Amino acid sequence: MDFSLSESLQQQLKWAEQFVQTNIVPIELKVLHSNFTDQKSEIASLQQQVKEQGLWAPHMPLAVGGAGFDLVALGLLSEVLGQSPLGHLIFGCQAPDAGNMELLHHFATPSQQQQWLQPLIAGTMRSCFGMTEPSNAGSNPTLLQTEAKLDGDHWVLNGRKWFTSSADGAGFCIVMAVTDKTAPHHQRASMFLVPTDQPGYQRLRNIPVMGDVGSGYFSHSEIELDNCRIPAENLLGQQGDGFAMAQTRLGPGRIHHCMRWIGVAKRALNELIAYTQQRQISRHAVLSDMQTVQTWAADSAAEIAAARALVLQTAWQVQQLGFKAVRSEVSMIKYFTANVLQTVLDRTVQGMGALGMTDDTIIAFLYRHERAARIYDGPDEVHKNVVAKHLWAEQSNALSSAQS
Ligand SMILES: Cc1cc2nc3c(=O)[nH]c(=O)nc-3n(C[C@H](O)[C@H](O)[C@H](O)COP(=O)(O)OP(=O)(O)OC[C@H]3O[C@@H](n4cnc5c(N)ncnc54)[C@H](O)[C@@H]3O)c2cc1C
Repeated sequence: MDFSLSESLQQQLKWAEQFVQTNIVPIELKVLHSNFTDQKSEIASLQQQVKEQGLWAPHMPLAVGGAGFDLVALGLLSEVLGQSPLGHLIFGCQAPDAGNMELLHHFATPSQQQQWLQPLIAGTMRSCFGMTEPSNAGSNPTLLQTEAKLDGDHWVLNGRKWFTSSADGAGFCIVMAVTDKTAPHHQRASMFLVPTDQPGYQRLRNIPVMGDVGSGYFSHSEIELDNCRIPAENLLGQQGDGFAMAQTRLGPGRIHHCMRWIGVAKRALNELIAYTQQRQISRHAVLSDMQTVQTWAADSAAEIAAARALVLQTAWQVQQLGFKAVRSEVSMIKYFTANVLQTVLDRTVQGMGALGMTDDTIIAFLYRHERAARIYDGPDEVHKNVVAKHLWAEQSNALSSAQS
């Protein structure tokens, strides 16, 4: 493995680190706890500075207007940006848009790319991704029931989606719907480009996440599709390829997410250190003098370092071998990193006492929202199942080669 970084990448990461700490962290509480629309101009002005620095949309190739980072470089940048919930948004590589851009780049026709991909890359439009449904297990999306039927030169969509992240204010939604109920499970569904102002598409509500309804980019919606008619050409990719395409979207997404979580965990550890170093616990001691707090910090640092090494190793392997060859490793980093994040955040809440439960610091926001890391993009249990199957298969292969 070679993790040596070019001089220019080191400079870019240094610039991003300074920009996050100096320009983004100071405004994050104000942005997160007010209406998103009211903060758009301040966000746009920071986004403009990132564009001028040549770091906008780092996950997309240079040829289409991105910064052209490879997976390892993107992981390292994602770690820096993850230190603030605003980081990825301000650098134009936020979920779910980043995954949608990748989908459109791979599968959209030239005219679809012009209509949907260009504005996403330019940052003039946001999007969302509607796969999960309230009445079906999201961890097995082959159970989804939203239907799309061809009627003349239109598709007619009916169904209900939820936890459609960032649907509030999005220009379009990539909707996954069943196009052939009789097909084999993984060929039943297709993807559709649905403008959010299309009659029949309705955003019913923003769903409160542990009490936080959020707004705009920072929200998750429930969506109804009621005889929503869209032109036949709004089918994305080939009919029946929905699940195969979703895998293309989720693969790199897991590396991005894991490196973002490393950034979140580092932020939580830094907040714990800063707080406990100044919190007087007796006349002669501050909290950080307590061995318990030192153990929390030391354990957190070691766990973050271990997760970081595993994620970077996996990103490097993906670059060398492709996703299929390291499917088990990609599953492993997903649950391992999500659990490290949760443990580190919990220690910081504990160390901050009552303050950790308030929205006066960023920690409660991170604790509330990052709990979902163990659920979305495949719950822990599903990924552990993938790893276990891989281990069983390795064992059988080893036994058969020993016998032959
Ligand atoms: C904050 C957040 C944002 C999201 N954003 C989006 C989005 O933008 N678009 C979108 O389409 N979806 C989104 N989702 C939905 C997410 O993808 C689903 O929540 C996830 O796939 C799990 O599906 P489910 O919630 O229906 O849980 P279920 O499938 O009902 O599973 C419930 C629990 O059962 C257990 N379980 C499930 N399967 C197994 C198994 N095989 N073995 C053992 N245990 C199992 C797990 O513990 C799991 O947490 C988001 C979710 C959250 C929380």
